[in-house]
Order: sequence, then structure tokens, then C-alpha cells
Amino acid sequence: MEMPEGPSVKKFSLLASPFVGQMVMEVGGSSKQINLKNLKELWFHDCQVHGKNLFLAFGFDEREIVMSRPHETEQEGRSLEKVMDTGRDGIVLPQIKSQESKGPDADNLLQDADCTGPAVPEEPWRWLHFHFGLFGSVRANEFARAQRANKKGDWKDPSPRLVLHFDGGGFLAFYNCRMAWCSGPNTKPTYDILSVHFHRGQALEALCKPRLVCAILLDQRYFSGLGNIIKNEILYSSRIHPLSQGVLLPRKSAESLVDHALRFSSDWLHNKLQGQGLHYQVYMKEACPLGHQVLKESLGPRTGWKRLTWWCPDCQVLYT
Ligand SMILES: [Zn+2]
Repeated sequence: MEMPEGPSVKKFSLLASPFVGQMVMEVGGSSKQINLKNLKELWFHDCQVHGKNLFLAFGFDEREIVMSRPHETEQEGRSLEKVMDTGRDGIVLPQIKSQESKGPDADNLLQDADCTGPAVPEEPWRWLHFHFGLFGSVRANEFARAQRANKKGDWKDPSPRLVLHFDGGGFLAFYNCRMAWCSGPNTKPTYDILSVHFHRGQALEALCKPRLVCAILLDQRYFSGLGNIIKNEILYSSRIHPLSQGVLLPRKSAESLVDHALRFSSDWLHNKLQGQGLHYQVYMKEACPLGHQVLKESLGPRTGWKRLTWWCPDCQVLYT
């Protein structure tokens, strides 16, 4: 099981978007990372997805602020700085426990890479940055149910980190995610594999570096939203061995890899929205579609983070 990749987070944002414009009536959940009570009576202002990161904007109703200003009343003790309840140094985020992530992980640079950290508020709303862990998800108007019994044999439903009840009567439930206030998304859509602004030239340039292809693909600075499942599948589709050096890839292979990254992600999103699964070629498979034995091993740079990788040594060419 993997952490949610771009297409999953895009689906979460599509579930949350219909609630934009509504007010948070009640807040629930188990998260201790932010003061959940502070979300109460804020307006859900906007929703954006950047790679594997989801950003929701909350603020006071602008009309409300204008109306109450002449009287200097209730709004006074309730500034957005207080809502964010962060000091100038920001907050240290606890790590999500994961079976797979043991080493340093680009994802853990949550605040530095994807977010402009707590800053001087200029706008009447603030962004809540969500980063999803293993089995992380968002559900609209339903709670997640237990998929299997736990070690004690109980069928205990997962407990949401955050539940937002809106004045329209519906609710959103967030599972296994880290949350932090920030002043806005700080990622470039030109690197987002699901963005219409994705820039092919930039992606090709990033691919042709003297690094392992399997590591470049997972680098969120260049392929935002691309995760381990997409990596395994598109390397197979492009007939490229995961340990190939980017700089040695033939131009055609690099272009094929970018094409497959875009096509696979949008197909995956499309399937998700239809409620359908995806058919994998090598990920978690024992044989490739041509019947060769698929190998499985943790691969990555010698000193860097290694990820479980599936590949077919017969179909995929090693460029070294
Ligand atoms: Zn094969």
C-alpha cells in the first residue's frame, strides 16, 4: 500500500470543492497538530491541489469583517494569527508512521518546499496544508469503514484526524494526514503532472540529469504528484530499467517517459472518478504482461532513500 499520489489527492480536492463558500459549523477529529476549535465559524474559501498536497483556505466572511469594523466588536479578539496558532518560527510537524518511509524523504520537507510558512497575514483567509500518509484519504458525507479486523480481532473504523461540518448540512472527513497552517501554496504548477500548466521541456531537462531515473521521477521538485505506483508503471511502459542513468536515456525514451507519466496519471484520475480501480502491469505483480518474471527490490541512490520497485529485466533496458 502506498501513500496517495497526485490522482488521489486531485480526487480529494474534487470532493472538497463543492463545500467552498460554506461556513464550518462544527469541527471534530483527533488531530493535535492544530487547534481544531479555531476552524469553527470560519468560511471555507478555496481549495487547491499541488502534486500530492492539498490546500484548503479558511477565513472570516469579508462582509462580516467590514460590517463589524466600525463598532470594533467581536472580531477583535479573534485574529487570523490566533487562528493559525503558530509562532514566528512555525511548527514542527510530527512524522506520519509509515512502513516504507524510513530514510530522509523529500515529502518531509513539508513546510519548506510546498508552502510559504507562517507569515504576516495580508489576506482575509489562511491556508491549511494537508499532507497524506499511508491510507490517507478525504471523504465527503461519509466516514471510512474498517476494511479488516485489527490485531485484537475488532472491526474498528478508522478515526478521522479532522471532520468539518458545514452549514449546508454536509461534512468532510480527513484521514491519516498531517496538517499545518501556512500563508499559501508555494509550488509551481509547471511541474505538476496533473496540471494543465505542466511544462514538458522542464520535465525532460530534469530527466536528463546524471541521476538514477527511478529517483528523478520521485523528486517532487520536478514531478509533483508522481509517486511509487506511477513510477513503476511508467518505467515499464517506456521500457526503461529503474536503475538507468537519466543522462544516458535516448531522447525518445525520455519523451516516452514524460508522455506515459501524463497519460497514466490522467487515466488513473479518470478511473478514480468513475469508482474504478486500475490494472497494473508490474506494480505488485509476479509476471509482466508478456509473461516474464517481475523482480522486486528496494532501489534508489546509494546514499539516498530507497523505494520498493517492481520491474521486468527482459522488457526494460538498462542505460548505464
Ligand atoms: Zn517483460
